[in-house]
This record gives sequence, structure tokens and C-alpha cells, in this order.
Amino acid sequence: MRILIISDIHANLTALNAVLDHAGAIDAAWCLGDLVGYGPDPNECIQRVRELPDLICILGNHDAAALEQIDSATFNPEARQALHWTQHALTEESLAFLKRLPERVDTPLVTLVHGSPRQPVWEYLLDTFNATRCFEHFDTPYCFVGHTHLPIIFQMRSANTLAQLQVPEVDSSPILQPRAIINPGSVGQPRDRDPRAAYAIFDTSAPRWEYRRVTYDIGAVQSRMLALGLPDRHIQRLAAGW
Ligand code: ZN
Repeated sequence: MRILIISDIHANLTALNAVLDHAGAIDAAWCLGDLVGYGPDPNECIQRVRELPDLICILGNHDAAALEQIDSATFNPEARQALHWTQHALTEESLAFLKRLPERVDTPLVTLVHGSPRQPVWEYLLDTFNATRCFEHFDTPYCFVGHTHLPIIFQMRSANTLAQLQVPEVDSSPILQPRAIINPGSVGQPRDRDPRAAYAIFDTSAPRWEYRRVTYDIGAVQSRMLALGLPDRHIQRLAAGW
């Protein structure tokens, strides 16, 4: 099975379309949350994701904020401005879809969350210490996370050691070794100084992690954001990938 792994689309339809074109044939799609927030195309991205085969989609913190499940005061001023725009833009149908999203799904091989298996919606997994603690919070060989927008593999070789942090090389396709916590990076707002959209294909037969980056028309997204009055900071960052 070839499963498309995407996360943090953030209402960027141009990036999402580029990823879907680049990915080719897939048997299923797992989306790790934050379909909306920051970008100009929340309803269009939700619609496109809903059409993907055998979809599992997880709730992200921006999705929860759009549903008013969390306090917007926890967001910085620009993020709050983008959030209010998003809440206004979302259709009833889109809101109903977001409302049904689970915080965590355990498949036989992989646990899926947005943040971490310890705090599914909120925790940013950035360092090996916290990642190591998180291995106690799932039982499957692998856990896929999003939220930091940074492509990363935390590898746990044996118990009672610290997890090892690996940044995969673009277009590498490592065979996965249990156990690991893996982040595919962000489709719609990469933050590793590489502005290209990030995603992965999880080939369950090996199992193999095919990590990919793809260019898209960033200027087109920036123009839509400008026309909608979205915050300048969010427009600028797309071009530089931070
Ligand atoms: Zn995000």
C-alpha cells in the first residue's frame, strides 16, 4: 500500500495541488491536521482532502481553534487575525467536517496525531528528550506527527536510551526500523528554510518512508493572501520557508 502522508496544509491549495500531482497514484491518504489557518483557501483545501482515497484525517490545533474549541488568546496577534478571517470564511459544511475529526487514530502499524502521542493537539516535538518520553504513549511500531512543520525522524533503537534525531534528505526513501516518531513536514507552510511543499509516501510493504519536496507557485498564494488582507508576516514567510 502506498499511503500519502500530509500535514499542516494551512489552507494553501496551490501547495496541496502540487503535492497531489507530484505524489502520483496512492491507495490511501493520512492527513495529520491543520488543514486551515494562515492560508487563503480553507474550504477548497478541505474539499480536496475529503476527496482523497481511504482518508484518515486528524484534528490540528488550528482546526480546533477554528471550531472555537480552544481560546484564540493563545495565538499571537497575526495568527489570531488569520484565525478570525478563517472562522468567517469557513462554510457550514467545512465546519461540520472539522468537527468530526479525531485527535488520535491508532492503525495496526502507525499511531496518528497532530502534535504528539502525549498531547495529541498541542505538544511540539522538537527535541530528543521530549520525543523519548513520548514513546511511552503509544504501542505501535511508528507514530506520525505534524505541528512543528519540520521534517524529522526520531528513532528509538532500544529502551532506556535517548531517541536519535535524524533529518531525512530530500528524495531519500529509508526503510523504516521500529520504533520511530516521524514528521513529514508541512505542505502549506514549511518552516525549515526550504519553501517547497513537503510530504511523504509511506509504503507499507517495506515499510519505506519516501520523503519528498515539491515547488509550487508561491507568488499566486501570496497574491490571494494580499487581496484578502491576511497578515503580511504570513505572506512573507511562505517565500523563505520559516
Ligand atoms: Zn501547523
